[in-house]
Amino acid sequence: MMGLAADGGLLIPETIPDVSSQMADWHKLSYSELAAKVMVPFVDDIPVSDLASLINQSYSTFDHARVSPLVRVANIHVLELFHGPTLAFKDIALQLLGNLFGHILSKTDSTLNILGATSGDTGSAAIAGVRSKPGVNIFIMFPAGRTSPIQELQMTTVLDQNVFSIAIDGSFDDCQMLMKTVFNDLEFKSSYDLGAVNSVNWARVLAQIVYYFSAWFQLQRPTEFDVTVPTGNFGNIFAGFIAKQMGLPIRRLVLATNSNDILARYFNSGIYQKGRVHFSESPAMDIQIASNFERFLFYHLGEDSAQVNRFMEDFHTTGLAGVPGCQGIMEQFEAGSVDDIDTLQSITRCYQDNGYLADPHTAVGIAQAERVIEPGVPMVCLATAHPAKFEAAVHKALPLIVPRHESLKNLHDLETRKFNLPASVDHLKAFISEHCSTL
Ligand SMILES: *Cc1c(COP(=O)(O)O)cnc(C)c1O
Repeated sequence: MMGLAADGGLLIPETIPDVSSQMADWHKLSYSELAAKVMVPFVDDIPVSDLASLINQSYSTFDHARVSPLVRVANIHVLELFHGPTLAFKDIALQLLGNLFGHILSKTDSTLNILGATSGDTGSAAIAGVRSKPGVNIFIMFPAGRTSPIQELQMTTVLDQNVFSIAIDGSFDDCQMLMKTVFNDLEFKSSYDLGAVNSVNWARVLAQIVYYFSAWFQLQRPTEFDVTVPTGNFGNIFAGFIAKQMGLPIRRLVLATNSNDILARYFNSGIYQKGRVHFSESPAMDIQIASNFERFLFYHLGEDSAQVNRFMEDFHTTGLAGVPGCQGIMEQFEAGSVDDIDTLQSITRCYQDNGYLADPHTAVGIAQAERVIEPGVPMVCLATAHPAKFEAAVHKALPLIVPRHESLKNLHDLETRKFNLPASVDHLKAFISEHCSTL
């Protein structure tokens, strides 16, 4: 629930359990049962039966019985992670997070006011995770007029009284600046029980470990397999790294970025150097500073926090950092970047050759997977959003195709609830203190 550790660092488990001797018994389990097996070794403060029912509840909102079905597209196995309420893979973590928060708050009879900033997908998935939950309010800021119309409607058509979708008159950077400033006012933060659901929350990583196991079982348990992950904040692929450390036989984790390629450059050169943010056709990956990368560094640097601190300090002061003798762990990864032209071509080819419609983020992954796939080793590629969510990019690649999804069809006819605020800390604080009293 605390998000960041008290010293500003990220939380990680004390140990990573090796489950390889138990895995054989898990092959007949449903997704939720498998999730309970994978998560239980990390959880010591929620009784197993409570955890299992929270997990069940979280994935009952998905529109596919297998939750993360594996679909064959030519020689690639696409693991579809977009069957949750907002059609992006973030639902897998945020549905569970919402239920975990609700459970803990009701047990301890406390309240939480979640404050977040979003440029698109995270906001709607976080809102879908906590709407109508007792003890929680959620305040999500987005830059007015700068998210896609669908993304805005996915937030503003939620009418629950604990949900506040706030259109900020400013940019996404303004929204993030407002959030940081309010969180840095520690007195305000504690008197209003402010919390966050951003991608550094450990419970989000935990929920994402599960589908790597699910993919392996759906492949009928090969001796080894590769996984390609379209990557922005390094959260998704870091979950795969943990799954591998737990004994899942992932051979290589293939990291696919768009033209924001700081991570691809790092895994190819050992040098972590900031660049400028480019706006791409896969906007959820338009990130230069990947917040979860710091977790990976901890393992990369021999579980030595002092070295992680030094690396991050170097990076923040000079915009550049590196790890001497960067082999070993690096060999578990294979990285590349895919520009917009290749992304759109990948959408076109996938559809024309195989009849499969991929969203632009998934298309980045598929393009990279095709470059590095090797005969005899199954290749799984994670599909992170439904194509209907990124209609404009799909339309550019396939002018005759309009991707649709039932849940988005009626959005334009629904009633909306949103609040407009200037990009001002004082206005935001006044808004929070006025509205959090309804709990
Ligand atoms: C958030 C997101 C990503 C990036 O995931 P990370 O965990 O940040 O690497 C990729 N695709 C979509 C559709 C997303 O919403």
